[in-house]
Amino acid sequence: MANTKMTPADYIAREDKYGAHNYHPLPVVLEKGEGIHVWDVEGKKYFDFLSAYSAVNQGHCHPKIINALTEQAKELTLTSRAFYSSVLGEFEEYMTKYFGYDKVLPMNTGAEADETALKLCRRWGYDKKGIPENEAKIIVCAENFHGRTITIISMSTDPDSYKGFGPFTPGFVTVPYNDLDALAKELEDPNVAGFLVEPIQGEAGVFVPDNGYLKKAYEMCKAKNVLFIADEVQTGVARTGKLLACDHEGVRPDMLILGKAISGGVFPVSAVLADDDVMLVIKPGEHGSTYGGNPLGCKVAIAALDVVKDEKLAENAERLGQIFRDEMSSIDSDMIELVRGKGLLNAVAIKPKNGKTAWDVCVAMKDNGLIAKPTHEHIIRFAPPLVITEEELREAIEIIKKTLAQFA
Ligand SMILES: *Cc1c(COP(=O)(O)O)cnc(C)c1O
Repeated sequence: MANTKMTPADYIAREDKYGAHNYHPLPVVLEKGEGIHVWDVEGKKYFDFLSAYSAVNQGHCHPKIINALTEQAKELTLTSRAFYSSVLGEFEEYMTKYFGYDKVLPMNTGAEADETALKLCRRWGYDKKGIPENEAKIIVCAENFHGRTITIISMSTDPDSYKGFGPFTPGFVTVPYNDLDALAKELEDPNVAGFLVEPIQGEAGVFVPDNGYLKKAYEMCKAKNVLFIADEVQTGVARTGKLLACDHEGVRPDMLILGKAISGGVFPVSAVLADDDVMLVIKPGEHGSTYGGNPLGCKVAIAALDVVKDEKLAENAERLGQIFRDEMSSIDSDMIELVRGKGLLNAVAIKPKNGKTAWDVCVAMKDNGLIAKPTHEHIIRFAPPLVITEEELREAIEIIKKTLAQFA
């Protein structure tokens, strides 16, 4: 089939035929992106209100990031960690100064960075806290999302994520999110090495905990010599209106997990940041990744993080997020159950009406020129690239309003 003759249905049928069925995409076939917009194979333009799950905070194909990619691609793309590279140290110095930690450990995907943090935490528990070998526990939160590996789904409370994939990795204790009493109880166990938490639960439907939850949880962990580990893969890098979501409460995690937007959606880069006391418990040969810390990813991440500062993306997210929530809350539609979020990570819970669900609303928004995707059936996450202007945001809000009116 010549590409020019293919219809959207042809593209969808081809993916369906040759690809594993582990996703259920909205029926739109994209082929171009620039800034806050994407275009489908028929040339129709959309506002991107998913931003690849907040990986594309800097906007699609940001010229500075693409330039960093292409320049480095001509020089050296991969050395493995068997050798030093001229770029890795530059990235490490940049990252540690940017986020304020002694050391960084680079990986590729969010799940790998989470796995890395779990390994560091357990090893720290044995070497530094004196937990008996193989007895370390890590407290996690109900409704969490940390990725898709066997160990990570062993921490999940979502049957879609874990059912039929056992046996599971032991060593995790689950507490309800946003519940300090439950956390306090589990922290009594001297074998607890860490508490892993998302500052806002993104995949769970943008669940924002009470003010003070993170700060108090951090203090409770300190009192029990337990590592406070923040998974900021989705919330980090300006998305919630500060560089990190933990910054809203002045909390500096003992371990910080980053992914997604640290490379602006251009090339997979993830990382764990920690101070020497934690990071140096892992010795040469005990952990790694062939692509982790590759020169291409390093240069891309530096450029992507430059853009976040240069273009004041956190400030923009903070200001426009307020406008977005105010506008959503003022919409007169009986389908809107609630509006919540921080910065430009927001969600609207949709009450089904006449058999029409959040999925139908998303399909109708797509037809009207804005793409977003439901999470957990009835919640639509709205997370545009952070380079969006107020005028563009207001244009997008009009599309959402118009779409909801169609269901009235
Ligand atoms: C997306 C996400 C991950 C996993 O990242 P991948 O790159 O998909 O492995 C981990 N934690 C959080 C909070 C995420 O949103």
